[in-house]
Amino acid sequence: MPELPEVEALSAFLRQRLTGRVIAEVRPVAISALKTYDPPVTALVGRVVGAVGRRGKFLDVEVGGLHLVVHLARAGWLRWRDSLPVEPPRPGGRNPLALRVRLEGEGGFDLTEAGTKKGLAVYVVGDPGEVPGVARLGPDPLEVGFEEFAALVRGDRRRIKGVLRDQSVLAGVGNAYSDEVLHAARMSPYKVASSLTEEEAARLYEALGGTLREAVERSRGLAAGELKAEKKLGLRVHGRTGQPCPVCGDTVREVSFADSSLQYCPTCQTGGKVLADRRLSRLLK
Ligand SMILES: [Zn+2]
Repeated sequence: MPELPEVEALSAFLRQRLTGRVIAEVRPVAISALKTYDPPVTALVGRVVGAVGRRGKFLDVEVGGLHLVVHLARAGWLRWRDSLPVEPPRPGGRNPLALRVRLEGEGGFDLTEAGTKKGLAVYVVGDPGEVPGVARLGPDPLEVGFEEFAALVRGDRRRIKGVLRDQSVLAGVGNAYSDEVLHAARMSPYKVASSLTEEEAARLYEALGGTLREAVERSRGLAAGELKAEKKLGLRVHGRTGQPCPVCGDTVREVSFADSSLQYCPTCQTGGKVLADRRLSRLLK
């Protein structure tokens, strides 16, 4: 799933290509991806693209006073096309195409979504705040000050892993970067957020900004098609179960849940303790 650094890079990529261009056609292919009806997507046609930005993991394309807001969800992606086929795309079946935007002149982009679990969401609104997921967003982790961050985190009784991923606490951190941030902060994902000392909160704040800025920096200037591979290369523990921790050499471990998993390094983060994995212990019974 694209998180803050990838969406940030994607919005920079689009800004260069879309700003000042006129929308010629918007064609929803997977109707379920379209979450708003009024104004209709056709209202974008003939309007000029202004600012392109990011709100948490949402892409926000301003088009002549309206906003095309996109959440790529787990398996969604944006594919830039220098030229688009003339014939209309065929919906249904295995077609991953969810929405096509054609620009006047030449080119445009496709929003695609792989897999059967569909989560990609497209909104056309007068104000991005009308999108429920955007209205709920907490502060941006690249902009939040330490005092505000510490108050948010230390006021929360959940495990820190869940707190970091909660979009209403911080906007833009997901499963991958929360693993990375906790590894950089040498902190257990199970640590209760409200138990953090001032010093630990400061370490986490440093790790949050450092990890995300580094990832944004690495992604800068990359084309949309290159971002996913770049993200994978930059990760130290996430998705690396069984591989050596690049910091200490210990084996990266995993805890699985119903629909996700987390990775961590015992030596760096839990004082060498291996966290219980319910799936694994079920297998061993
Ligand atoms: Zn380690």
